[in-house]
Amino acid sequence: MLLPFVAALSLAASIQSAPPAAPQVVAREAWTMGTRLGVVIEATSVAEATHAAEEVVREVERFERMLSTWDPRSEMHAVNTAELGRPIDPSPELALLLAEAERYSRISSAAFDSRIGALVDAWDLRGAGVEPTADALRRAREAAGSRSISVDESTGTVIRHASAAWIDTGGFGKGAALRSVARGLESVNVSRALIDLGGQLWAQGSADEPWSVHVAHPTERQRPVARLEIQGVSVATSGTSERFIEIDGVRRGHILDPRTGRPAPAWGSVTVVSSDALEADALATALYVMGPHVGLAWAERQGGVDALFLQVDDGELTASWTRSMEQWLIDAPQTHTHQDGNHR
Ligand code: ADP
Ligand code: MG
Repeated sequence: MLLPFVAALSLAASIQSAPPAAPQVVAREAWTMGTRLGVVIEATSVAEATHAAEEVVREVERFERMLSTWDPRSEMHAVNTAELGRPIDPSPELALLLAEAERYSRISSAAFDSRIGALVDAWDLRGAGVEPTADALRRAREAAGSRSISVDESTGTVIRHASAAWIDTGGFGKGAALRSVARGLESVNVSRALIDLGGQLWAQGSADEPWSVHVAHPTERQRPVARLEIQGVSVATSGTSERFIEIDGVRRGHILDPRTGRPAPAWGSVTVVSSDALEADALATALYVMGPHVGLAWAERQGGVDALFLQVDDGELTASWTRSMEQWLIDAPQTHTHQDGNHR
C-alpha cells in the first residue's frame, strides 16, 4: 500500500531537484525588406533556437516577396500596375492587409495613407530628392489618396483610377511581417525572442523576464532618453532623423503628409507599443504626421494607444506620452507634459 505513494513522492522530488535547463541563445542576422533583420531566440536547445530563427528569416522574406514595391515579381507590384478601373482581388492574405491599411487611413483621417505612391515619385523620395513644381505637386496629389485607388475595407478589393497611382507598403509592411513572425513564435518551443526589423521590435518573453529596450533621442541616436520593459508587444518608432533627403539644403524626411502632399515637418519622433505589430507600425506613422500635439490628443481619444512623443525644439527635448504608455515606461524622460499641458 505504501509503495505507490513513496514512488510518487520520489518522482516529485526528482522533478524538483532537476536543475532547470539553461536557455540556449541563438542570434541571427539577415538583410531583407530593404533593411536589417536581427533575431535573438532563447530556447531549451540550440537546435530549437536555430530552427526558430531560420523560420523568422524565412517568414520576413516571404512578406518581402509579397509586399515589395521594388520587386516587379511581387504580388503587390501586380496590384500596383493593374489596369485602370478593373477590380483586383488580391490573395486573401494581401487583401486582409490592404483592407487593414485602409482602416488605419480612415481612422487617422488620412494622416496614414499608403496610397502615396504618386507623391513618393513626385518628391523622388527613392532617389536624391527633388522639390516638385506646383503643377507637378498638384498632379501627384490628384494621383494619390482615396480618389486615386479605392480599397474595399471589407474585401480588400482594389481599383486603380489613375495611372501614376500606386500603394506604398513601406508604412505597414514591416509591422505586417513582424506580426506574422510573432504568431509563428507562439506555436514553437521558444522561451524568449527579440526580433528587430529595421528598428521596429517584437519582444517575446514573460512577465518576470521582460526585455529592456531604450528609446533613443530623436536627433542624437546614441543618447537613450527612455527605457521600456516589454514583452508580448512590438515597438515602432517613426521620425525624420534616420532617413531623409536634402533639397536645397533643407532636410526632408521620408514620411509624407498625404493631406498636403508634402513631407511631414521634422519635429522629433513618436514611439508606439502594441501587441499588434502592424498597428504599432501604422500608428507610429500616423501619429508622426499628426505631430506631437494633435497626435497625443488623438491617441488619448482612441484609448489604449501606447505612444511616447519626443519633440526637439531648438535642441531642447520635450517628452509627452499617453496614460496607457506608462505601463511600459521604466525610466521616463526627465521633462514631459501630459495632454493637459502640465509639466510634472
Ligand atoms: P520606417 O519605415 O523608417 O521605420 P515608418 O514606419 O514611419 O518608418 O514608415 C515610413 C514609410 O512609410 C515611408 O518610407 C513610406 O514608404 C511610407 N509612408 C510615408 N508616409 C506615409 C503615410 N503618411 N502613410 C502611410 N505610409 C507612409
Ligand atoms: Mg510605420
